[in-house]
Amino acid sequence: MIIPVRCFSCGRVIASDYGRYIKRVNEIKAEGREPSPEEIEKIFDDLGIERYCCRRMIVSHVDLINEIMPFS
Ligand SMILES: [Zn+2]
Repeated sequence: MIIPVRCFSCGRVIASDYGRYIKRVNEIKAEGREPSPEEIEKIFDDLGIERYCCRRMIVSHVDLINEIMPFS
């Protein structure tokens, strides 16, 4: 729903990086294609997210808050 503030496994703060990640992905999608795995890896490297526990938090997140808000 909302990106968790910290990584469940290691406790690193990841919520502040999520917006930057989405911005970079949307820049690639604006070119009319999906980002390749290598591009996703490059984004994580640039953001300084090195551990795969933190990467899976962002990669696997589905942002549903705007879908659910009208029903609360
Ligand atoms: Zn982690």
